[in-house]
Amino acid sequence: MSGDKMSGQAMPNVQYVGPQPPPPPYSTHPPPGVQPPPGAAIGTVTTTFIVTNPAGPDPMITTCPSCHHQIVTRTERNPTTKTHAIACLLFWFICWPCVCLPYCMDSCNNIDHYCPNCNAYIGGYKF
Ligand SMILES: [Zn+2]
Repeated sequence: MSGDKMSGQAMPNVQYVGPQPPPPPYSTHPPPGVQPPPGAAIGTVTTTFIVTNPAGPDPMITTCPSCHHQIVTRTERNPTTKTHAIACLLFWFICWPCVCLPYCMDSCNNIDHYCPNCNAYIGGYKF
């Protein structure tokens, strides 16, 4: 007498009670026409701030990468090869008093930005 009973044990019925939550109204697939390249992780947002050449011809407010202070850059105007070339052209073809013009014009010079706090080179603005 082992006492076994072949009684049908009531298996716990898993009942889904309650209404299923509706799917979100927005779809997660990309809009038509935009085919992601294979292997690309969808949803990965690569935020890259490129600050290689943010400088303009005017002093700008930025954070110094060297001393990490918020500074207004100090600009220095440096003549470039283009400046000398224009000066030579003016000298030969127009008149020599105009030679100094390209050196005085912002549009013919490089503008270098420096930190007034630590004199670090911030960036350059090339024409
Ligand atoms: Zn600095």
